[in-house]
Amino acid sequence: MGRSSKDKRDIYYRLAKEEGWRARSAFKLLQLDHEFNLFSGVHRAVDLCAAPGSWSQVLSRKLRGQEEKAGGGEEVKIVAVDLQAMAPLPGVTQIQGDITKVSTAQEIIRHFEGQPADLVVCDGAPDVTGLHDVDEYIQAQLLLAALNITTHVLKPGGTFVAKIFRGKDVTLLYSQLKIFFSGVTCAKPRSSRNSSIEAFVVCQHYCPPDGYVPNMSNPLLDHSYDVDFNQLEGPNRVIVPFLACGDLSAFDSDRTYPLQLDAGKQYQYTPPTQPPIRPPYQQACHLRKNNLLSREDGAGRPDQSPDEAAQP
Ligand code: SAM
Repeated sequence: MGRSSKDKRDIYYRLAKEEGWRARSAFKLLQLDHEFNLFSGVHRAVDLCAAPGSWSQVLSRKLRGQEEKAGGGEEVKIVAVDLQAMAPLPGVTQIQGDITKVSTAQEIIRHFEGQPADLVVCDGAPDVTGLHDVDEYIQAQLLLAALNITTHVLKPGGTFVAKIFRGKDVTLLYSQLKIFFSGVTCAKPRSSRNSSIEAFVVCQHYCPPDGYVPNMSNPLLDHSYDVDFNQLEGPNRVIVPFLACGDLSAFDSDRTYPLQLDAGKQYQYTPPTQPPIRPPYQQACHLRKNNLLSREDGAGRPDQSPDEAAQP
């Protein structure tokens, strides 16, 4: 594949590099903010599942920009959490940790010196298996883990934004979110491909039930549930508004746009803003580059002698 072929296919991928974002997902958060004004009055924000860091970049640029405009005032604090290491970002404290662990919640609270967060965002995604039911299930688990940790760190009235897969059990997730937030909207930014079941829940006005004590239990793992949530009707079935967001004149993420935007200008390849530090596919790339991948048909590697290939 040529260096420019992904640039040709994906306008947001190309723009991300041109504008210095670490990933095209930056545009999703920017478009969600455009619709919901997420950052207004936010001083403490948490980015769950943050690597490689484009959402943290958006938070850093927007919140620190706001603070500067206001001439100082309350200091902005941003905490980013991910299982993977992330290159540093200005004004962002990193925790390399698991969002399903209560110790991670405690560490976030320590960074905020006991103060609750105004905003928690989560673009978390597990490694996709290609088996849709499994992927949807794992994504739902990750969303619930994000909700759990959020209940430890978010202030009453605060906002939670998270990636969701609109699979067949999405109603159950909406119901659970509605227990904690008075406003729940499912939003689809223009930079998120129509062909993907990905969307984002924007949960506003955090108001946990009276007497709720944050914990890390996961209601979806409680197999005493014996209800088909898609059969629920009337008030028992929670319907949340669905909103397409991002300016209608914004680029359509499912379309292919020509490379040369300005007439007469040569196409210039832009390298990625921040290559991954230790990606899981690193070893596979090394093996392929050095022609070391074994072949399933037993014919051996092209660089092997017949004797070598015959060995078990
Ligand atoms: N929002 C990021 C950005 O804009 O650069 C992209 C996030 S990426 C799609 C999903 C991330 O979720 C991965 O980096 C992965 O390591 C992280 N992740 C998945 N499960 C996690 C967990 N249990 N705890 C922390 N991070 C997790």
